[in-house]
Amino acid sequence: MIKLQMYVNGQWVDAKSGKTREIVNPANGEVIALAAEGDVEDAREAISAARDAFESGVWSEIPAAQRAACLFAIADKLEQNAEEIARLETLDNGKPLRETAADVADAAACFRYYAGMVTKPDGQTYHVADPMQALVVREPVGVCGLIVPWNYPLLMAVWKIAPALAAGNTIVFKPSEVTPVTAGKLFEIIEEAGVPKGVANMVMGAGLTVGNELAESHEVDMISFTGGTVTGRSIMKAAAGNIKKISLELGGKSPNIVFADADFETAVDYALFAIFANQGQVCSAGSRLLLEESIHDRFVERLVERAGKIRVGPGLEPSTEMGPLVSEAHMEKVLRYIELGKQEGARLVCGGRRITANGLEKGYFVEPTIFVDTTPEMRVVQEEIFGPVLVVQKFKDEAEAVRLANDTAYGLAGGVFTNDGAKALRVIKKLRAGITWINTYHPTYNEAPWGGYKQSGIGRNLGTFGFDEFTEVKQININLQVEPIGWFEG
Ligand code: NDP
Repeated sequence: MIKLQMYVNGQWVDAKSGKTREIVNPANGEVIALAAEGDVEDAREAISAARDAFESGVWSEIPAAQRAACLFAIADKLEQNAEEIARLETLDNGKPLRETAADVADAAACFRYYAGMVTKPDGQTYHVADPMQALVVREPVGVCGLIVPWNYPLLMAVWKIAPALAAGNTIVFKPSEVTPVTAGKLFEIIEEAGVPKGVANMVMGAGLTVGNELAESHEVDMISFTGGTVTGRSIMKAAAGNIKKISLELGGKSPNIVFADADFETAVDYALFAIFANQGQVCSAGSRLLLEESIHDRFVERLVERAGKIRVGPGLEPSTEMGPLVSEAHMEKVLRYIELGKQEGARLVCGGRRITANGLEKGYFVEPTIFVDTTPEMRVVQEEIFGPVLVVQKFKDEAEAVRLANDTAYGLAGGVFTNDGAKALRVIKKLRAGITWINTYHPTYNEAPWGGYKQSGIGRNLGTFGFDEFTEVKQININLQVEPIGWFEG
């Protein structure tokens, strides 16, 4: 049994209340870890440690190269422990090993990307009226509260921790209460890499207590959150008290548009990947497949044939292509959406049930599921299901494809498959979404900004944009001729 403690002010500690939470392997329902269950008091202590560390300059004022060296060391240690971390992530989250192995590699690359940025030139100078010289510098925001969900426990943590630390901030990080295991490992590595005490803190516990305290506290200068839109809205409200800087990466219901002139097999292949990777628990999942009328039936037939062959099983088995959903509660939610889809009149052409055969009865497995004959107002078309459930929509022409694609409250991602380059770009330019793909779906890079339009969020993770979020901008005006201004005569 793994025992998970919190990391506060350089110490590994239990919750002040002594409470713990059982962490469950979603492939078989077994308890794999006992995690300290922090609450508001624990959060306050961590915030106070982060505040003191920030004010002392122990991190922001050390040479940039020294800060970079710590981040490079974290990347190295993540790689050295990659196999163990990937295994732990699969045990805790359920996704197949090939996905968690990729997540750990991406996490190390993310630390390395931001480590490199620390020592690069930044700021600007302006030629303004003589004898003045104006310059602009970037400075850390201060204490940052970082809150992440359970779908990419390690990677979402790193997307926030790496740029926040690179920019010189101090942090209080809260993992999802469902998946805290690899965060524990990451903070062991952060400690070993020599990050000074108080700079990086981790508090486990519920969103409504620990998360809300991070969002509300006047000692926290910024909140960076990834998760559901409903939670994002409540964080925005809680953060208003001290006008915190906020960055929100929320949900999506992203369209994957396939025109009749697309490469057929490539489009089928990516349509499967777009929705069934990570069991559909991906904010940018291609959860709405928009098919041009003339290929609709043939495409659906091929899609169903291939979806039925996806090997569903425990993530630790090397042959597994799709694992369990993250928790029993989440599985129940996904199954309720499937029932809703049927009640709304959508036609189920694939899957739709929990899988209990072949020794999977204790896990939270759901069949790859596909609905056709949908209409735009159905809730299964409008709402984020966050599971292996695809809804298919039919369109007649380019204009209708764009209209349907943009017809939800979300605006996170979208893809287009066509062999007409001009049409691809025309459609992409009309998509109200922050992350888009042409003739592919899902690839993402540390270099490029990640985030959404509309109710999919505010701000961007990753790239230089993601770094800038964790900085304040200061203008400095320097008088090069030091003499009185003489504005007042007396
Ligand atoms: P939540 O938005 O509820 O949780 C994400 C994180 O926020 C967790 O760490 C959670 O804590 C914390 N949190 C919850 N409530 C608050 C609060 N009031 N103040 C501060 N922090 C809070 O997502 P869930 O994990 O419950 O999933 C719900 C839905 O969100 C999913 O079905 C999906 O639609 C969407 N989602 C979107 C993701 C994305 O990447 N865009 C990722 C995951 C989910 P706790 O530990 O208590 O859960």
